[in-house]
Amino acid sequence: MELVFDGHNDVLLRLWHTMHKGGDPVAEFVNGTTAGHIDGPRAKKGGLAGGISAIYIPSGDFEIKAPDENGHYEMPLTAPLERAPSLDIALEFASIALKLERAGAWRLCRSTADIRKAFADGVFASVLHMEGCEAIGEDLAALDVFYAAGLRSLGPVWSRHNIFGHGVPFAFPKSPDTGPGLTPAGFELVKACNRLGIAIDLAHITEQGFWDVAKTTDQPLIASHSNAHALTTVARNLTDKQIDAVKESNGIIGLNYATTMLRPDGQENAATPLSDMVRHIDYLVERAGIDCVALGSDFDGATIPADIADAAGNQKLVEALKEAGYAADELAKICRENWLRVLGQAWHE
Ligand SMILES: [Zn+2]
Repeated sequence: MELVFDGHNDVLLRLWHTMHKGGDPVAEFVNGTTAGHIDGPRAKKGGLAGGISAIYIPSGDFEIKAPDENGHYEMPLTAPLERAPSLDIALEFASIALKLERAGAWRLCRSTADIRKAFADGVFASVLHMEGCEAIGEDLAALDVFYAAGLRSLGPVWSRHNIFGHGVPFAFPKSPDTGPGLTPAGFELVKACNRLGIAIDLAHITEQGFWDVAKTTDQPLIASHSNAHALTTVARNLTDKQIDAVKESNGIIGLNYATTMLRPDGQENAATPLSDMVRHIDYLVERAGIDCVALGSDFDGATIPADIADAAGNQKLVEALKEAGYAADELAKICRENWLRVLGQAWHE
């Protein structure tokens, strides 16, 4: 079995909902469940050895718009969030992550040595991420505290605007060039991440924001869960020009399993064949090279192909890639080694 370290999951979001329904998030992760995609037993079964786990502040007003008769859709961007309630929610997510660590259910990794040690010990290697920095104020005080709690990756924005920058909407077909990029506070956030050694994720930011980060950061460019816009023209996918910039920085693009970002028609439909996933990987490898392509499932955050179904089915993608001709060393890079290289660079190892 090929061990996988995956660039993006929302398991903490599912466990946060469990907690608010009166359930026990740690027990759910340890004992397993049928809900969602990731828990300890299913991760083990599918060779999912670890991944980047997001703190994410839900937008209460997020509205799913049905596609029109041409299959086109555009979800309105949700309203900006207030900082104080966002901080409360971010603390709840971090608390669940820390409880999982104390229970031995997973390990919060702060270095690639930590990740490799967790692999060797057979413990899920989690890297704490923040997907949209609404919990952090312009003074960046909270950034220091979250860093101390284990935060090692962040995206300045989710698909909405905040004090640091502008996000892209969920829309098909649409260019990612939907408006302005980083704000002055956003540039300061990028510099602070460079100083501290926090990976900066470009998923969900506008194309202008992508270029603003690219010209400011000293890290390889990271798009943790995005695909090729040339194949699926959703605003969240990367244009050829962006893919070329990732390659030039020796960065990384993690394949998002969301069917909306895989299918040529951009629709949410679990009956999406594995061949759509392989086609995006092929395209990204062709364009960016084998060293810059990886996985970024979006487990627990999206509708994924039924053939994968959940973390336990993760090796089906590995098998499909093997059948498509990827050699053992190439699979190791796609499945985990590229992520370890890029995170090591972002973390100043
Ligand atoms: Zn996302």
